[in-house]
Amino acid sequence: MAFTGLRAFAVIAALAVASNAAPALDTRALCPDGVNRVNNLQCCRFIPVRDALISEIFEGQCGENAHSTVRIAFHDAIGFSTRGGKGGGADGSMIAFGATELAFAANAGIDEIVEDLQPFADAHGVSYGDIIQFGSSVALSLCPGAPLVQTFVGRRNATAPAPDGTVPDPFNPVTQILARMADAGFSPAEVIALLASHSIAAQDEIEPNIARSPFDSTPDSFDTQVFLEVLLKGNVLPGGLGPGEGEVLSPLEGEFRLESDAAFARDPRTACTWQSFVANQSLMSRQFATAMAKLGLLGQNSRQLVDCTEIIPRAKPATRTAAIIPAGKTRQDIEASCAQSAFPNLQTARGPPATVPPVPEQ
Ligand code: CA
Ligand code: CA
Repeated sequence: MAFTGLRAFAVIAALAVASNAAPALDTRALCPDGVNRVNNLQCCRFIPVRDALISEIFEGQCGENAHSTVRIAFHDAIGFSTRGGKGGGADGSMIAFGATELAFAANAGIDEIVEDLQPFADAHGVSYGDIIQFGSSVALSLCPGAPLVQTFVGRRNATAPAPDGTVPDPFNPVTQILARMADAGFSPAEVIALLASHSIAAQDEIEPNIARSPFDSTPDSFDTQVFLEVLLKGNVLPGGLGPGEGEVLSPLEGEFRLESDAAFARDPRTACTWQSFVANQSLMSRQFATAMAKLGLLGQNSRQLVDCTEIIPRAKPATRTAAIIPAGKTRQDIEASCAQSAFPNLQTARGPPATVPPVPEQ
């Protein structure tokens, strides 16, 4: 009996292997290009847009232009209030009304990515709101560890600029930033989730002499490193310059710390959400994805848009699931600020203290 039973098991196993080996029939609709298949044929025309964004704008990298596209996605969308009167949200007004909005101090430096995205959108017949939000999701796909963000297309172009004052400045107090973000519909926890974007970000305009100095040591990876490094004791002004307005002491030569990031990491209203991401890549990534999807729909009605998430590539996984203490630092350098829970145990990198290089110029 035992022998028969084993044989039966073997047959079932063989069948399982056979069915796994058979190629699954792709029942999705064929695009007019005769190559790509999609669930929603309206997404076909965005496939060449996606591919050209990756090759022409982002050069296949989680680099300066990918970072800047995620940044403009926030700056464009946050021109919005749940009470009205602060712009049309994720409507591309940052490009369509660039002469107005790019002159606002909080949008300093965004003109560079607009110079790339505006002619690109025009050439591909895509609205500015779409090129910004779709572009942001495609940009994220190049950054290891970044989530797939639900991505809609079909936005109409903006009809008016957003007023000044909708984009928080890094020198604004936490209370002021949380109030502005609440006005746009975001909770404090969602604000911290959105700040995961600072894992792939750098400054240009606060200290132009150290342009492209990143906010964490891994600006080409959407990892949790920023949530640890902002909690390290600050003792450096990178480049020996500053502090600029909105800058505070950073822990590593070459790394730039925003005053608002430092404050959010230590404020009782946000410190526990901040700390919860330090050793939890999947939590950070998930909550960022939810908040970004919400951001991309500010001022929009998703029922009038088309969900083309299916054509957004998946990012490679992060190389680590928890942050690592930079070489030369110890646990004693961490200013743990969440009263409710213990700081997670982390590994420490070996070797001499590193200088964080600037993000290469694109
Ligand atoms: Ca806008
Ligand atoms: Ca990073």
